[in-house]
This record gives sequence, structure tokens and C-alpha cells, in this order.
Amino acid sequence: MTVTQTTSNEATTPGGDLESRNPATGELLGKVPVMGQAEVDTAVARAREAARTWGAMSHAERRRHLTAFRRELGRRVEDMGDLIHRENGKPVLDSVQEVLVSCIHLDHATLRAEKALATQRVKTGLMANVRATISYHPLGVIGVIGPWNYPLFTPMGSIGYALAAGNTVVFKPSELTPLVGRLLEEIAADSLPDRYILQTVTGDGRTGGALAASAVDKLAFTGSAGTGRKVMAAAAANLTPVVMELGGKDPMIVAADADAKEAAKYAVYGALTNAGQACVSVERCYVVGDQYDEFVQTATEAASKVKVGGDDGQIGAITRPQQVDIIRDHLEDAVAKGAKVLTGGPEKISGNFVEPTVLVDVTDDMRIMTDETFGPVLPVIRVDSADEAIERANDTEFGLGSSVFGEAGIVEMAERIKSGMTAVNSVMTFSAIPTLPFGGIGESGFGRIHGDEGLKEFSRTKAIAHQKFSIPGVTMEFAPDQKSATKLVKVLTKQAFGGGIVDRLQEKVRNLLG
Ligand code: NAD
Repeated sequence: MTVTQTTSNEATTPGGDLESRNPATGELLGKVPVMGQAEVDTAVARAREAARTWGAMSHAERRRHLTAFRRELGRRVEDMGDLIHRENGKPVLDSVQEVLVSCIHLDHATLRAEKALATQRVKTGLMANVRATISYHPLGVIGVIGPWNYPLFTPMGSIGYALAAGNTVVFKPSELTPLVGRLLEEIAADSLPDRYILQTVTGDGRTGGALAASAVDKLAFTGSAGTGRKVMAAAAANLTPVVMELGGKDPMIVAADADAKEAAKYAVYGALTNAGQACVSVERCYVVGDQYDEFVQTATEAASKVKVGGDDGQIGAITRPQQVDIIRDHLEDAVAKGAKVLTGGPEKISGNFVEPTVLVDVTDDMRIMTDETFGPVLPVIRVDSADEAIERANDTEFGLGSSVFGEAGIVEMAERIKSGMTAVNSVMTFSAIPTLPFGGIGESGFGRIHGDEGLKEFSRTKAIAHQKFSIPGVTMEFAPDQKSATKLVKVLTKQAFGGGIVDRLQEKVRNLLG
């Protein structure tokens, strides 16, 4: 990628072109402009204008348009799949799967929005004279900044839900996958009633910075924690709210009663798919006691059979060349500190291709166990018990995904892992289930995409308290008789909350109802 500066005023107009290249072959796929603050602000202003009509539509109308958008995306699965394959470097199967899962999420958001965002009537407690409702409204314009590892699926987790909630979107794809963003914009323009409902602005970090500093109503960022901090700092100037979908160091736990062979098969897929470049990749594995030998043997055999690169490759190139250095560093650090390579390893790295690697004798102080590796690597640790596994799994700054394998008490074990999502007896399944919220804690970020939570994330919550009649001393007005109102409030407080008759009655009813 080369960025040519044509102007010294970076803050307003970075200018120049961004080259998009196939990471597997180096082939030049196309060029896009590096947009600055002026272009980004124009896009946001157009999106705001489009939001007036889009946001005012009924859910049924938007559903009709978004269904047309989803159909156009589904119809063009070959174009989009081929472009993802060439621009990101992942196999064609993974690329078309990415289009499929993106359609699943777009379809779900489209069909679910009306129900998830329906106005709810809520209880009012003592204020029986008030009718209370909660309603959900579009925020306006959502800025979406995306990564390169799932250049369609990941941003769609924000874009689809933001659009269905009645917002328009300005999308800044990664500088490594700008053409996917461009094609998505084209598909939207061909199927939505206004081409400014979903726009793409292209460029590098400066363009992302411009979007973060723009007048968007909310920003959905997906990327690394370091960049996330910069995005938050820029958004803070306008008090723009943000959703942060950041990295992970996802643990997998194999309990004493798990099927070790089956678990090993999933561990290999979870660690290696997309060449390990998934935010919810299996990044470290804790195997309890007797299961360890069978697990390690099966995982090593399976990993060594995974085909890398070429037309029938099961994993492709590492998309970002600098990532190869990070993977090599992590592997070399582990080996220097005593880890044993069972297959793959740092010497097997060739150009942008990394051989699937299984490591044992790893310790918690190795970078491979603490930092996000984002490569096709499976480090395995033997532990004495599930409790030890959970404790070590939770000893991290991250908290995105995780997986547990076993039978007895396995859901309770899943609940004890401090992460946003856990797959039980599989890996990553939660990503493809559109009813489940997706997001992390700690260094993995905050806020949720997908599911009803994802639709609400891109909505403004409105509380309405509609008073039907007044109660002196309780309603928000000056009581004409201060003394008797004070008496009434004292009696009310004691009876309702100070162990009085209402308080005791309520407890009895609660106990009766269980
Ligand atoms: P990155 O942080 O380098 O870049 C992400 C995006 O931010 C890009 O579009 C980039 O141009 C933009 N950007 C860079 N500097 C910016 C700035 N100063 N202001 C605004 N925008 C700026 O991340 P990446 O390498 O593209 O993605 C990989 C990371 O994303 C990994 O850590 C991965 O785990 C994470 N990820 C998280 C999720 C999730 O849902 N939690 C999903 C996919 C990837």
C-alpha cells in the first residue's frame, strides 16, 4: 500500500491514492482516494439529509428497502466473495461464507427491528397515576470504522443494525480492504431509495480520525485497542458516543469429561480459520488432566494436515504484512522461553504465509499467552482442574469470546468465564447467531452489536411519563397543605418501605409467587 501526499494540509485533505493489493500475490487490485475532513464532512452532511426521510419511514417501509438491499447482496455473492478473497487473501469458501453470514445478520436486523424497538409500557410503582412508556428512535448518522480481517461481516454487524434502527451510515473500511467497502456502497446504491443512506469514505487512519471528529451521532469502531483509544479521544471532543469492538485473547477449556478428539478438531478450526485473524479466534487452550495427551496428538495431526495457500488452501495469506512479524515475535519468544513446537513454528513462515503451529510447554509469561497473536497458532497448556482452567482463562485484560468443552456443569463453567460470549462444545458459534449480542469487556471493548441489544445500541431511548391525575404530595407539584402532605408521605414511606403493612404484604405476595 502506498499513500501519496498531494497536499500539506493533512487534517482537511490528506489526498493521494491508496493502492489495494492482493496479499497472496501482490497484484494491484485498484486505487481509491484518501479522503480528508472535508470529504468526510460532506458525506456526513449528505447522510444527515438522507436520514430525515429514512428515519421518518415506518418499520414496514424500511423493511421493504432493506430486503431489497439484502437480496442484492445475496445475489452478488460471487462478486463480493471473489473480491473478499482477492483483497483479504482468505480462501473463496471463507469469503462466500462471510457474505452468507452478513446476509443472515442483515436479514435478522431487517425483520426484527420493529419488534425489538417497539414502544413498551412499563410499571410505575407508587405512581399509579402515571402511564409510563419507553420508545426507541433513530440516532441520525452512524459512523462505522472497520477492520480488514472480516471486511464485510464485521462492519455489517453495525451497519445492518444501524440501518434497520432507522439511521443512515458513513462507513470507513480498512485501508487494506477499501474495495469491499466500495462494492458494498455500490450494492446499497443499486437497491436502496437514496444513495446517501449508506456511503463509504476511503482512506487510512487519517480518514478514520476525520470520521471520529465529524458530526456523526454515534461511532461504531472495530479494530485494535490502541486505535480504539485514539478514536475515543477524537470522539470525546464532541461527546460522540462510541461502541468499541476490539481484540481478544480467547481461551478454550477442555474439561475432564469432554470428548478430547472432538474438542481438538474444533480447537484447530478455532485457532486456524481465517489464518487465525479473527477477533474471536481460539488463542490459548487449557486442557484438564488425562485429556491432554489425546487432545495434543489429535490437534497436532489435524493442524499439520491443514492446507495453506493455493486454490484449495484451507487458510490463506496473512493480510497485513506487519502482522507476520508479530506472529514470528510471539513464536520466537515462546520457543526462547522453553515452548516446544509440535508442528509449524517460526522457521516455517514464508513471505505472508504462516504454517499452522501447535505449541506445548507454554507458560503464562509468554507473549503467546498474553497478547493477541492473530495468527494460525494453537498454544496448549495442561491444567489439573476446571477451576484452575477458569482462573487462568480469566487472568487477562481481554474478554471477548471463549469456548468450553465438556458435559457435567458445562454451562455453569461457561457462565464463570469473564467474556462477552462463550461457545459450549463448539467454537465461535455465537457470531453467526443473529439473536445473540456480540461484544466484549476490558481491553476487548464495550457496547454490543447483533441481537436486540445491537438494534438498541443504535437507537435513542425515550422515556415518557404521562400523568393521568394528580396525588397531592406524591405528584410533582407544590402541595397546597404542606403539613398534611408531609404526614401522608411519612405514612406512605413507612408503610411501603419501612416494614409497614404494604411492605409486608408485597413480600408475602412475592414469596407466594416464588
Ligand atoms: P486497526 O486498529 O489497525 O484499524 C481499524 C480501523 O481503524 C481501520 O479502518 C483504520 O484505518 C482505522 N484507524 C486507524 N487509525 C485511526 C485513527 N487514528 N482514528 C480513526 N480510525 C483509525 O485494526 P485492524 O488491524 O484493522 O483490525 C484488527 C483488530 O481488530 C484486531 O485487534 C482484532 O481482534 C480486532 N477486531 C475486533 C472485532 C470485534 O468485533 N471485537 C472484529 C474484528 C476485528
